Amino acid sequence: MSKRTKKVGSAGRLGSRYGVRARSRIRNVEMIQRKKHTCPSCGHVAVKRLGTGIWKCRKCGIKFAGGSYIPKTEIGQQVDKIIRGEALAMEQRRLQAEQGEETV
Ligand SMILES: [Zn+2]
Repeated sequence: MSKRTKKVGSAGRLGSRYGVRARSRIRNVEMIQRKKHTCPSCGHVAVKRLGTGIWKCRKCGIKFAGGSYIPKTEIGQQVDKIIRGEALAMEQRRLQAEQGEETV
């Protein structure tokens, strides 16, 4: 089967409206949002978008919140890092407190 919209992709539905820039942007976003992504849980390339920010793996069934158009945004990864760092810091404080109690 030949490809109908080689150049414009999903933005082909818009016809000649909205300008080249806007259509090319839409195309770029929709290509990423519609393709299958790698699952953060099982590693299979089977994650599909259910709705805005909702992603589900068709292999292991995990459903998780992510970016609106991509499963994980750069900002989101930074936030994850901060949260992990906080968790680590809390664990360290807890351990220090425990050790403090032992020496008393
Ligand atoms: Zn999975």
